[in-house]
Amino acid sequence: MKELTTKLLIIGGGPGGYVAGIRAGQLGIPTMLVEGASLGGTCLNIGCIPSKALIHAAEEFDRARHHAAGSQLGIRVSDPQIDIAQTVRWKDGIVTRLTGGVGALLRKAGVQVHKGWAEIEDGKTVIVKPPEGEPLRVRCEHLLLATGSTPVELPSMPFGGAIWSSTDALSPDVIPKRLVVVGAGYIGLELGMAYRKLGVEVTVVEAVQRVLPTYDEELTQPVLDALQKSGIELHLGCSVQGWDAEHGVHVRNDARAEEFALPADRVLVAVGRRPRTAGFGLESLQLDMAGRHVAIDAHCRTSMRNVWAIGDLTGEPMLAHRAMAQGECVAEQIAGKSRRFEPMAIPAVCFTDPEVVVTGKTPGEARAAGIDCIDAAFPFAANGRAMTLEATGGFVRVVARKDNHLILGWQAVGRGVSELAAAFGQSIEMGARLEDVGHTIHAHPTLGEAVQEAALRALGQALHI
Ligand code: FAD
Ligand code: NAD
Repeated sequence: MKELTTKLLIIGGGPGGYVAGIRAGQLGIPTMLVEGASLGGTCLNIGCIPSKALIHAAEEFDRARHHAAGSQLGIRVSDPQIDIAQTVRWKDGIVTRLTGGVGALLRKAGVQVHKGWAEIEDGKTVIVKPPEGEPLRVRCEHLLLATGSTPVELPSMPFGGAIWSSTDALSPDVIPKRLVVVGAGYIGLELGMAYRKLGVEVTVVEAVQRVLPTYDEELTQPVLDALQKSGIELHLGCSVQGWDAEHGVHVRNDARAEEFALPADRVLVAVGRRPRTAGFGLESLQLDMAGRHVAIDAHCRTSMRNVWAIGDLTGEPMLAHRAMAQGECVAEQIAGKSRRFEPMAIPAVCFTDPEVVVTGKTPGEARAAGIDCIDAAFPFAANGRAMTLEATGGFVRVVARKDNHLILGWQAVGRGVSELAAAFGQSIEMGARLEDVGHTIHAHPTLGEAVQEAALRALGQALHI
């Protein structure tokens, strides 16, 4: 078997692995990266990017239908149609451009990319099985595990045929008439809302009594209102028992001891993702685990010397920007720099309509941590830009220490608020006080003025409410 040696070997070319590779290459570290499927990982191929493309296409179609129904803007459109095969081709084009770009960036950084599945022999040796030809044995000084995660399957409804994973839902062959979505988390609601905008009858079944249960109720209320207004049927506090083509999804409402069936052409199961820890010899390393994921310290080191792990493999929050930040941090440490992965806050954005952004502590989390805090919200109903965008639902909320006004967290819900995540993260990382944000001149008219006004309101100085 052919043998190669390198200083750093990365398993997985998703956002964690490819960013680690680019940074390591820039720092002059001899680096190899092994990817079994496609560079860009879940995020670029079957996650963040294709889902946002589909959401955008659905929004445009919905807007056209809104105008066709006689919108108050005076725009007249008649009988809009969607060619879903063309939509999927357009989405695939974006994916191809981005994944090709990742390959080019890795080449530019001098990283050797090997296509194939990696099988770990020991903490310094990996066998790479290419799609064709002989396997390779790669010996390395540092091994970086960035194998990501896979969708959780329901035993009563394994993926295949009419039972969709998010990957299937992102490349539909047809637009189903009736879609049942199991799970009202990120994927269920982002894609469930998009399918509703494509004209599909959507029903969501969720095990707990709330949608987006990881966010606080004040934040999710506008999303719940939008779901109901759009005609999505919700069954909260319900468990799914199975599926058959004749009756659809069998559901049980435990509190009411009721069982019923929901007819469906397709069922999207979105009940979470689990770290990819099996099938490539990881268990042979006997690394310390934390539940289902690989345990790491504040340097992204595993329990074995010179074996590092990043991204979804290392558990929540399973977000692309966390994986990328960890990848960069590991590359710099291998190059000898003193770094730790200790962000003040990792933003989380849910791309529903309205969007939700959470950065840092909520009022409840701050109080639970024993911090004497103040919080204040500014509604988009009082923001001029929101009115011009027909997007007056939602608000921006800030949380700060009462004694010195240090900002601890931001939350927002509303159309387009994902773009506020940058301002939220910067203010927290830079240790801003309410006065810093409140006394910064924000451009008018922008949604960002609601950020300034929330800070002013927390100081008792709001101007436009
Ligand atoms: P991955 O992206 O999963 O990459 C791991 C890579 O490793 C894969 O390419 C895999 O093929 C490869 N691999 C695994 N094992 C081996 C092996 N043995 N040999 C060789 N290669 C191997 N996050 C956000 O921040 N924002 C979003 O809007 C967002 N939207 C999402 C939408 C959907 C539908 C989904 C499913 C996820 C979404 N996510 C989003 C989550 C995001 O995709 C992940 O957090 C991110 O991709 C994790 O990056 P990673 O590098 O850890 O792993
Ligand atoms: P999720 O954890 O966001 O939501 C899963 C939902 O399914 C939860 O509300 C849970 O209560 C519910 N559930 C679990 N078991 C169930 C059952 N048997 N019946 C009914 N409901 C059940 O998971 P997801 O939506 O699959 O997304 C996976 C991960 O991907 C997310 O946690 C996130 O890390 C990532 N993601 C992020 C984004 C984003 O950043 N915008 C978008 C999509 C996915």
